[in-house]
Amino acid sequence: MINYDENNIFANIINKKLSTEIIMESEHSIAFNDIAPQAPIHILVIPKGKYIKYDDFLNKASKDEVYDFFMLINSLVKINNLENTGYRLIANAGKNGNQEVPHLHFHLLAGQNLGKM
Ligand code: 5GP
Repeated sequence: MINYDENNIFANIINKKLSTEIIMESEHSIAFNDIAPQAPIHILVIPKGKYIKYDDFLNKASKDEVYDFFMLINSLVKINNLENTGYRLIANAGKNGNQEVPHLHFHLLAGQNLGKM
């Protein structure tokens, strides 16, 4: 089993060692813009807890944390008026998913036609 890397970039954003403009924050989650956006809207949503990837999160987090996380994504969809135009959610996981930062994050991409996967 892989251990959580306490020094990963997103851990440093959570513990405020690295300054980033927070777009939205809830009790258990935060959202901020991706540093290298791949679409006009490219937001990263992360839980504040130490979870490496999706399965780690779902297996270990409380129901409150999981609900909070997905509702924060839903709030971002609403404030950006994406219900009608659409959007893409991506969570890369592990080696074959080419996950770069080992702290769970969902990419919320929108603002143009994103093409086929
Ligand atoms: P992954 O490939 O792990 O799914 O995505 C990691 C994402 O984190 C990439 O889209 C990358 O641009 C973004 N990223 C990497 N370092 C930073 C950073 O220091 N700040 C922000 N805001 N995003 C970052």
